[in-house]
Amino acid sequence: MSAAIRLAIVGLGKIARDQHLPAIAATDGVELAAIASRNAALDGVPSFATIEELLAADVSVDAVALCTPPQGRFEQAHAALHAGLHVFLEKPPGATLAEILILEKLARLKGVTLFASWHSRFAPCVGAARTLLADNPPSHVRVTWKEDVRHWHPGQQWIWEPGGLGVFDPGINALSILTAIVPQALRLDRSDLSFPANRAAPIAASLGFSGEAVTVEAEFDWRQTGPQIWDIEAQTRAGTLLLSEGGARLTLDGDEIAAGEDAEYRGLYARFVELVRGGQRDVDVEPLVHVADAFMLGRRHAVEAFEDEVA
Ligand code: NAP
Repeated sequence: MSAAIRLAIVGLGKIARDQHLPAIAATDGVELAAIASRNAALDGVPSFATIEELLAADVSVDAVALCTPPQGRFEQAHAALHAGLHVFLEKPPGATLAEILILEKLARLKGVTLFASWHSRFAPCVGAARTLLADNPPSHVRVTWKEDVRHWHPGQQWIWEPGGLGVFDPGINALSILTAIVPQALRLDRSDLSFPANRAAPIAASLGFSGEAVTVEAEFDWRQTGPQIWDIEAQTRAGTLLLSEGGARLTLDGDEIAAGEDAEYRGLYARFVELVRGGQRDVDVEPLVHVADAFMLGRRHAVEAFEDEVA
Protein backbone atom coordinates (compact mmCIF):
# COMPACT_ATOMS: atom_id res chain seq x y z
CA MET A 1 0.00 0.00 0.00
CA SER A 2 1.32 3.50 -0.85
CA ALA A 3 2.19 5.92 1.94
CA ALA A 4 -0.38 8.56 2.76
CA ILE A 5 -0.03 11.93 1.04
CA ARG A 6 1.28 14.41 3.62
CA LEU A 7 -0.86 17.48 3.06
CA ALA A 8 -0.61 21.05 4.35
CA ILE A 9 -3.61 23.36 4.53
CA VAL A 10 -2.94 26.94 3.50
CA GLY A 11 -5.47 29.45 4.89
CA LEU A 12 -7.09 27.94 7.97
CA GLY A 13 -10.40 29.78 7.67
CA LYS A 14 -14.08 28.96 7.25
CA ILE A 15 -14.00 26.29 4.55
CA ALA A 16 -10.79 24.71 5.85
CA ARG A 17 -12.33 24.21 9.30
CA ASP A 18 -15.88 23.36 8.16
CA GLN A 19 -14.98 20.88 5.43
CA HIS A 20 -11.30 20.21 4.70
CA LEU A 21 -10.22 19.10 8.20
CA PRO A 22 -13.07 16.57 8.65
CA ALA A 23 -12.74 15.31 5.05
CA ILE A 24 -8.98 14.78 5.39
CA ALA A 25 -9.52 12.90 8.65
CA ALA A 26 -12.12 10.68 6.93
CA THR A 27 -10.16 9.93 3.74
CA ASP A 28 -7.69 7.08 3.33
CA GLY A 29 -4.47 7.99 1.60
CA VAL A 30 -4.11 11.55 2.88
CA GLU A 31 -3.06 12.97 6.25
CA LEU A 32 -2.71 16.48 7.64
CA ALA A 33 0.99 17.33 7.98
CA ALA A 34 1.11 21.11 8.47
CA ILE A 35 -0.77 24.42 8.45
CA ALA A 36 0.25 27.71 6.84
CA SER A 37 -1.99 30.54 8.00
CA ARG A 38 -1.12 34.05 9.15
CA ASN A 39 -3.54 34.14 12.08
CA ALA A 40 -4.39 30.53 12.88
CA ALA A 41 -2.70 27.32 14.02
CA LEU A 42 -3.70 23.84 15.14
CA ASP A 43 -2.49 22.15 18.30
CA GLY A 44 -0.14 19.27 17.55
CA VAL A 45 0.29 20.19 13.87
CA PRO A 46 3.39 22.09 12.67
CA SER A 47 2.08 25.57 11.89
CA PHE A 48 3.62 28.40 9.89
CA ALA A 49 2.47 31.93 9.03
CA THR A 50 3.01 31.66 5.27
CA ILE A 51 3.59 29.06 2.59
CA GLU A 52 7.11 30.44 2.09
CA GLU A 53 7.93 29.66 5.75
CA LEU A 54 6.42 26.20 5.35
CA LEU A 55 8.49 25.48 2.23
CA ALA A 56 11.66 26.67 3.94
CA ALA A 57 11.03 24.58 7.08
CA ASP A 58 12.23 21.12 7.91
CA VAL A 59 8.80 19.49 7.62
CA SER A 60 7.93 16.88 5.01
CA VAL A 61 4.89 17.64 2.88
CA ASP A 62 3.86 16.21 -0.49
CA ALA A 63 0.88 18.45 -1.22
CA VAL A 64 -0.97 21.62 -0.26
CA ALA A 65 -4.67 22.45 -0.22
CA LEU A 66 -5.10 26.17 -0.87
CA CYS A 67 -8.11 27.33 1.14
CA THR A 68 -7.43 31.06 0.90
CA PRO A 69 -9.60 33.49 -1.09
CA PRO A 70 -8.94 33.47 -4.86
CA GLN A 71 -7.08 36.78 -4.86
CA GLY A 72 -3.47 35.99 -3.94
CA ARG A 73 -3.79 32.25 -4.36
CA PHE A 74 -1.77 32.25 -7.60
CA GLU A 75 1.49 33.15 -5.81
CA GLN A 76 0.88 30.39 -3.24
CA ALA A 77 0.09 27.79 -5.92
CA HIS A 78 3.09 28.85 -7.99
CA ALA A 79 5.44 28.55 -5.00
CA ALA A 80 4.08 25.12 -4.10
CA LEU A 81 4.27 23.73 -7.65
CA HIS A 82 7.72 25.19 -8.10
CA ALA A 83 8.79 23.30 -4.97
CA GLY A 84 7.44 20.08 -6.53
CA LEU A 85 4.30 19.76 -4.41
CA HIS A 86 0.89 18.58 -5.60
CA VAL A 87 -1.75 21.32 -5.37
CA PHE A 88 -5.46 21.16 -4.52
CA LEU A 89 -7.17 24.47 -5.38
CA GLU A 90 -10.42 25.54 -3.73
CA LYS A 91 -13.05 26.88 -6.10
CA PRO A 92 -12.85 29.15 -8.03
CA PRO A 93 -9.42 27.95 -9.18
CA GLY A 94 -8.15 31.50 -9.59
CA ALA A 95 -8.91 35.18 -9.83
CA THR A 96 -8.16 35.13 -13.58
CA LEU A 97 -8.08 32.52 -16.33
CA ALA A 98 -4.49 33.26 -17.35
CA GLU A 99 -3.14 32.37 -13.94
CA ILE A 100 -4.67 28.90 -14.17
CA LEU A 101 -3.13 28.32 -17.58
CA ILE A 102 0.26 29.25 -16.14
CA LEU A 103 -0.23 26.95 -13.14
CA GLU A 104 -1.32 24.06 -15.30
CA LYS A 105 1.76 24.44 -17.49
CA LEU A 106 4.01 24.55 -14.43
CA ALA A 107 2.34 21.47 -12.90
CA ARG A 108 2.89 19.60 -16.16
CA LEU A 109 6.53 20.68 -16.29
CA LYS A 110 7.08 19.56 -12.70
CA GLY A 111 5.16 16.30 -13.19
CA VAL A 112 2.85 16.96 -10.24
CA THR A 113 -0.91 17.02 -9.73
CA LEU A 114 -2.96 20.19 -10.02
CA PHE A 115 -6.60 19.72 -9.00
CA ALA A 116 -9.05 22.54 -9.67
CA SER A 117 -11.78 21.36 -7.34
CA TRP A 118 -15.51 21.95 -7.84
CA HIS A 119 -17.14 20.66 -4.67
CA SER A 120 -20.72 20.98 -5.94
CA ARG A 121 -20.01 18.41 -8.66
CA PHE A 122 -19.64 15.88 -5.82
CA ALA A 123 -23.15 16.52 -4.49
CA PRO A 124 -24.98 13.18 -4.20
CA CYS A 125 -27.43 13.49 -7.14
CA VAL A 126 -25.23 15.19 -9.74
CA GLY A 127 -24.15 11.85 -11.26
CA ALA A 128 -27.76 10.64 -11.59
CA ALA A 129 -28.78 13.96 -13.20
CA ARG A 130 -25.89 13.71 -15.67
CA THR A 131 -26.89 10.16 -16.65
CA LEU A 132 -30.53 11.13 -17.14
CA LEU A 133 -29.70 14.19 -19.26
CA ALA A 134 -27.17 12.26 -21.35
CA ASP A 135 -30.07 10.12 -22.61
CA ASN A 136 -32.59 12.98 -22.64
CA PRO A 137 -30.85 16.23 -23.61
CA PRO A 138 -32.76 19.22 -22.20
CA SER A 139 -34.52 21.79 -24.38
CA HIS A 140 -34.65 24.40 -21.62
CA VAL A 141 -32.90 24.75 -18.26
CA ARG A 142 -33.62 27.20 -15.45
CA VAL A 143 -31.01 27.73 -12.75
CA THR A 144 -32.11 29.50 -9.55
CA TRP A 145 -29.38 30.10 -6.97
CA LYS A 146 -30.60 32.49 -4.30
CA GLU A 147 -29.07 32.75 -0.84
CA ASP A 148 -28.49 35.22 1.98
CA VAL A 149 -24.97 36.61 1.78
CA ARG A 150 -25.16 37.87 5.38
CA HIS A 151 -25.78 34.32 6.61
CA TRP A 152 -23.18 32.52 4.47
CA HIS A 153 -20.40 35.13 4.32
CA PRO A 154 -20.62 37.16 7.53
CA GLY A 155 -18.03 39.91 7.54
CA GLN A 156 -16.05 38.55 4.56
CA GLN A 157 -14.77 41.52 2.58
CA TRP A 158 -12.76 39.72 -0.14
CA ILE A 159 -15.99 38.54 -1.82
CA TRP A 160 -16.80 42.17 -2.69
CA GLU A 161 -13.35 43.02 -4.03
CA PRO A 162 -12.18 42.54 -7.64
CA GLY A 163 -11.44 38.85 -8.08
CA GLY A 164 -13.82 37.90 -5.25
CA LEU A 165 -16.62 37.38 -7.82
CA GLY A 166 -19.50 38.68 -5.67
CA VAL A 167 -22.63 36.58 -6.25
CA PHE A 168 -20.65 34.37 -8.63
CA ASP A 169 -18.85 32.92 -5.60
CA PRO A 170 -21.94 30.73 -5.03
CA GLY A 171 -23.15 31.10 -8.62
CA ILE A 172 -20.06 29.35 -9.94
CA ASN A 173 -21.14 26.28 -7.93
CA ALA A 174 -24.34 26.22 -10.00
CA LEU A 175 -22.31 26.65 -13.19
CA SER A 176 -20.00 23.80 -12.16
CA ILE A 177 -23.04 21.51 -11.88
CA LEU A 178 -24.71 22.87 -15.03
CA THR A 179 -21.60 22.24 -17.13
CA ALA A 180 -21.26 18.74 -15.67
CA ILE A 181 -24.83 17.59 -16.33
CA VAL A 182 -25.98 19.33 -19.53
CA PRO A 183 -24.57 17.40 -22.51
CA GLN A 184 -24.72 20.32 -24.94
CA ALA A 185 -21.84 22.83 -25.06
CA LEU A 186 -23.12 26.18 -23.77
CA ARG A 187 -22.27 29.75 -24.65
CA LEU A 188 -23.33 32.83 -22.71
CA ASP A 189 -25.35 35.32 -24.74
CA ARG A 190 -26.84 37.67 -22.12
CA SER A 191 -25.67 39.00 -18.78
CA ASP A 192 -27.27 41.58 -16.48
CA LEU A 193 -25.26 42.33 -13.36
CA SER A 194 -26.52 44.25 -10.32
CA PHE A 195 -23.75 46.08 -8.48
CA PRO A 196 -24.44 47.70 -5.09
CA ALA A 197 -23.48 51.37 -5.36
CA ASN A 198 -20.68 50.89 -2.78
CA ARG A 199 -19.24 47.55 -3.97
CA ALA A 200 -16.87 46.34 -6.72
CA ALA A 201 -18.64 43.02 -7.26
CA PRO A 202 -22.24 42.13 -8.21
CA ILE A 203 -24.88 41.12 -5.66
CA ALA A 204 -27.14 39.59 -8.34
CA ALA A 205 -26.81 38.28 -11.89
CA SER A 206 -29.29 37.29 -14.58
CA LEU A 207 -27.77 35.22 -17.39
CA GLY A 208 -28.84 33.60 -20.65
CA PHE A 209 -27.00 30.80 -22.44
CA SER A 210 -27.66 28.82 -25.58
CA GLY A 211 -26.41 25.59 -27.10
CA GLU A 212 -27.56 23.02 -29.64
CA ALA A 213 -31.37 22.84 -29.25
CA VAL A 214 -31.19 24.21 -25.70
CA THR A 215 -31.56 27.53 -23.89
CA VAL A 216 -30.56 28.20 -20.29
CA GLU A 217 -31.59 30.99 -17.93
CA ALA A 218 -29.78 31.52 -14.66
CA GLU A 219 -30.74 33.81 -11.79
CA PHE A 220 -28.24 34.33 -8.97
CA ASP A 221 -29.16 36.55 -6.03
CA TRP A 222 -27.44 37.15 -2.72
CA ARG A 223 -30.33 39.15 -1.20
CA GLN A 224 -32.51 36.11 -0.49
CA THR A 225 -33.95 35.88 3.00
CA GLY A 226 -36.22 33.04 4.11
CA PRO A 227 -35.91 29.75 2.20
CA GLN A 228 -32.59 29.39 0.40
CA ILE A 229 -32.86 28.12 -3.19
CA TRP A 230 -30.24 26.12 -5.08
CA ASP A 231 -32.23 24.56 -7.95
CA ILE A 232 -31.60 23.45 -11.53
CA GLU A 233 -34.74 22.57 -13.49
CA ALA A 234 -34.49 20.98 -16.93
CA GLN A 235 -37.24 20.32 -19.48
CA THR A 236 -36.62 17.04 -21.29
CA ARG A 237 -38.67 14.63 -23.41
CA ALA A 238 -38.68 12.30 -20.37
CA GLY A 239 -40.26 15.01 -18.20
CA THR A 240 -39.17 17.85 -15.92
CA LEU A 241 -36.03 17.09 -13.99
CA LEU A 242 -35.43 19.08 -10.81
CA LEU A 243 -32.05 18.92 -9.12
CA SER A 244 -32.59 20.80 -5.86
CA GLU A 245 -30.86 21.61 -2.56
CA GLY A 246 -27.58 22.18 -4.40
CA GLY A 247 -27.59 18.66 -5.86
CA ALA A 248 -28.80 16.71 -2.82
CA ARG A 249 -32.21 15.81 -4.28
CA LEU A 250 -33.41 14.80 -7.76
CA THR A 251 -37.01 14.51 -8.95
CA LEU A 252 -38.57 13.72 -12.32
CA ASP A 253 -42.08 15.16 -12.79
CA GLY A 254 -42.24 15.52 -9.00
CA ASP A 255 -41.26 11.92 -8.18
CA GLU A 256 -38.06 11.56 -6.20
CA ILE A 257 -35.56 9.44 -8.09
CA ALA A 258 -32.43 10.09 -6.02
CA ALA A 259 -31.36 11.70 -2.74
CA GLY A 260 -28.30 11.48 -0.55
CA GLU A 261 -26.23 12.80 2.32
CA ASP A 262 -23.61 15.50 1.86
CA ALA A 263 -20.18 14.00 1.24
CA GLU A 264 -18.82 16.54 -1.24
CA TYR A 265 -15.44 17.14 0.37
CA ARG A 266 -14.81 13.46 1.03
CA GLY A 267 -15.47 12.96 -2.66
CA LEU A 268 -13.00 15.73 -3.50
CA TYR A 269 -10.25 14.24 -1.33
CA ALA A 270 -10.82 10.73 -2.70
CA ARG A 271 -10.45 12.23 -6.19
CA PHE A 272 -7.30 14.12 -5.16
CA VAL A 273 -5.70 10.93 -3.82
CA GLU A 274 -6.63 9.16 -7.07
CA LEU A 275 -5.08 11.96 -9.17
CA VAL A 276 -1.85 12.03 -7.18
CA ARG A 277 -1.53 8.25 -7.23
CA GLY A 278 -2.19 8.20 -10.97
CA GLY A 279 0.18 11.09 -11.73
CA GLN A 280 -2.70 13.06 -13.28
CA ARG A 281 -4.10 16.59 -13.34
CA ASP A 282 -7.74 17.72 -13.35
CA VAL A 283 -8.15 21.36 -14.35
CA ASP A 284 -11.53 22.21 -15.85
CA VAL A 285 -11.93 25.96 -16.21
CA GLU A 286 -15.32 25.92 -17.97
CA PRO A 287 -17.34 27.29 -15.01
CA LEU A 288 -14.86 30.17 -14.67
CA VAL A 289 -14.96 30.82 -18.45
CA HIS A 290 -18.71 31.45 -18.18
CA VAL A 291 -18.17 33.81 -15.23
CA ALA A 292 -15.50 35.69 -17.18
CA ASP A 293 -17.90 35.92 -20.12
CA ALA A 294 -20.62 37.22 -17.80
CA PHE A 295 -18.33 40.07 -16.78
CA MET A 296 -17.25 40.70 -20.42
CA LEU A 297 -20.79 40.71 -21.78
CA GLY A 298 -22.37 42.13 -18.62
CA ARG A 299 -24.72 45.11 -18.61
CA ARG A 300 -24.15 46.91 -15.33
CA HIS A 301 -27.11 47.98 -13.18
CA ALA A 302 -26.58 50.08 -10.04
CA VAL A 303 -28.61 48.91 -7.03
CA GLU A 304 -28.93 49.87 -3.37
CA ALA A 305 -25.68 50.01 -1.39
CA PHE A 306 -24.92 46.86 0.61
CA GLU A 307 -23.90 47.16 4.25
CA ASP A 308 -22.79 44.08 6.14
CA GLU A 309 -23.78 44.76 9.75
CA VAL A 310 -21.70 41.86 11.08
CA ALA A 311 -18.19 43.11 11.93
P1 NAP B 1 -12.06 32.93 4.56
O1 NAP B 1 -12.45 32.16 5.78
O2 NAP B 1 -12.41 34.38 4.48
O3 NAP B 1 -10.50 32.83 4.27
C1 NAP B 1 -9.75 31.68 4.49
C2 NAP B 1 -8.43 32.00 5.14
O4 NAP B 1 -7.56 32.56 4.17
C3 NAP B 1 -8.52 33.08 6.22
O5 NAP B 1 -8.88 32.54 7.46
C4 NAP B 1 -7.15 33.70 6.22
O6 NAP B 1 -6.30 32.98 7.10
C5 NAP B 1 -6.68 33.48 4.80
N1 NAP B 1 -6.78 34.75 4.08
C6 NAP B 1 -7.83 35.58 4.01
N2 NAP B 1 -7.55 36.65 3.24
C7 NAP B 1 -6.30 36.47 2.83
C8 NAP B 1 -5.44 37.22 2.02
N3 NAP B 1 -5.82 38.39 1.49
N4 NAP B 1 -4.19 36.75 1.81
C9 NAP B 1 -3.80 35.58 2.34
N5 NAP B 1 -4.57 34.83 3.14
C10 NAP B 1 -5.81 35.27 3.36
O7 NAP B 1 -12.63 32.24 3.25
P2 NAP B 1 -13.44 30.88 3.06
O8 NAP B 1 -14.89 31.14 3.21
O9 NAP B 1 -12.84 29.79 3.84
O10 NAP B 1 -13.21 30.67 1.49
C11 NAP B 1 -11.93 30.34 0.97
C12 NAP B 1 -12.14 29.74 -0.42
O11 NAP B 1 -12.97 28.57 -0.29
C13 NAP B 1 -12.87 30.66 -1.39
O12 NAP B 1 -12.34 30.53 -2.68
C14 NAP B 1 -14.31 30.18 -1.35
O13 NAP B 1 -15.00 30.40 -2.57
C15 NAP B 1 -14.11 28.68 -1.13
N6 NAP B 1 -15.26 28.05 -0.49
C16 NAP B 1 -15.84 28.60 0.60
C17 NAP B 1 -17.00 28.01 1.14
C18 NAP B 1 -17.67 28.56 2.37
O14 NAP B 1 -18.75 28.06 2.74
N7 NAP B 1 -17.12 29.54 3.04
C19 NAP B 1 -17.54 26.86 0.55
C20 NAP B 1 -16.88 26.29 -0.52
C21 NAP B 1 -15.75 26.88 -1.04
P3 NAP B 1 -5.09 33.74 7.86
O15 NAP B 1 -5.54 35.15 8.15
O16 NAP B 1 -4.85 32.91 9.06
O17 NAP B 1 -3.95 33.72 6.87
